[in-house]
Amino acid sequence: MGFFNKLKEKVSSVTSSVSNAVTNAVETAVEKTSTAISSAVEKTTEALKFNKLKEGLSKTRDSFVDKIQVALGFGRKIDDALLDEIEEILITADIGVDTTEKIISAVKDRVRREKRETGEEVFIIIKEEIEKLLITSPSALNDANYEIAPDKKPHVIMVIGVNGVGKTTTIGKLAYNYKQAGRNVIIGAADTFRAAANEQLEIWAERADVQIVQQKQGADPAAVAFDTLNSAISKDADVVIIDTAGRLHNKGNLMAELEKMSRVMKKVVPTAPNEVFLVLDATTGQNAIQQAKEFMKVAGITGIVLTKLDGTAKGGVVIPIACELQIPVRYIGVGEKIDDLQPFIPKDFIDALFGKEDKVVSNYEVSNVNDIDDNDEE
Ligand code: GDP
Ligand code: GDP
Ligand code: MG
Repeated sequence: MGFFNKLKEKVSSVTSSVSNAVTNAVETAVEKTSTAISSAVEKTTEALKFNKLKEGLSKTRDSFVDKIQVALGFGRKIDDALLDEIEEILITADIGVDTTEKIISAVKDRVRREKRETGEEVFIIIKEEIEKLLITSPSALNDANYEIAPDKKPHVIMVIGVNGVGKTTTIGKLAYNYKQAGRNVIIGAADTFRAAANEQLEIWAERADVQIVQQKQGADPAAVAFDTLNSAISKDADVVIIDTAGRLHNKGNLMAELEKMSRVMKKVVPTAPNEVFLVLDATTGQNAIQQAKEFMKVAGITGIVLTKLDGTAKGGVVIPIACELQIPVRYIGVGEKIDDLQPFIPKDFIDALFGKEDKVVSNYEVSNVNDIDDNDEE
């Protein structure tokens, strides 16, 4: 090979290795930057969601956490009279008698064992004991990622509950959340009973940018569900959400109608409905628990959605619902807008309600989730 050819070869190999190195460096830098950006976006989104939750819970905080803080304040002696007062606050804040008793007896026990003497210490113990109940409840297994395994689609969710609790609104929000996560969603308008139900759901479908299957008012809801599932199969949809008319658990014919819908859906998707979500309105307080108990007897509820947590003082009701019913509270509604449905994450809920930073007094370790798991489980 001539000198110039060799030189050319060398130059070109150097050039190509330099250009490879540059390309790699640029790619790595771009990758790093985009990872950093997307993690920043994720953090910001999480922070916004948390603030929304906190804001939504402000009346509940007034009626519950603030009252506890007031009761514990001003160097009061931690005695039975004070703990009875706190018990009363919990009960009036819709925590319910059974759950309140559990909390108070655990608190009394710890106050005695750990010789707690200040209001701050007792406040943290109350927070921890409520958190402990929630993170040992089925709601602790909730995830927030809207994944559907390829062999599990279409994932069929039927949404039920009494009139006005927020079923249709929840379906719009849930469809939106799935869609934002990149899933393909079809909603079925099987509330064929109420006038204008189709129109209302259509508006939500448009907002969420998902497809909707509907028939005329008065059509058989089971037929609508059947159509929706067939459409989901032919369009290779990931998620199907079926709206239903409001009904009371004690209307035999209406409960039979739900059974028929399930039966007919199985002809298309044998595992359907994969989820039956019962929607409950938080503003109804203790009544919501009663409703859940009744519905659980007659329908195979797999999850609860608690709506209207914003603007109610009765948000404490999520605690007995999550702890007593042994059904996960899957989502909570914190407003009327499309992005106002959040997965119920116990730790976030407790932090939003009680505040993130514990005003820890000296030599007090706030136990974390793992410590609590290892400790006395009920
Ligand atoms: P459905 O009869 O169960 O389908 O209930 P709708 O979805 O029609 O909702 C009834 C009312 O509750 C509507 O005015 C909704 O805007 C309202 N709503 C539903 N969810 C929420 C929520 O999380 N927060 C608030 N503030 N309002 C809600
Ligand atoms: P009642 O005789 O006044 O108690 O009325 P029913 O509750 O028996 O309702 C008669 C029929 O109307 C039922 O077969 C239902 O198909 C329909 N219906 C009445 N109320 C509702 C309702 O809230 N939701 C749905 N889906 N259907 C209803
Ligand atoms: Mg509706």
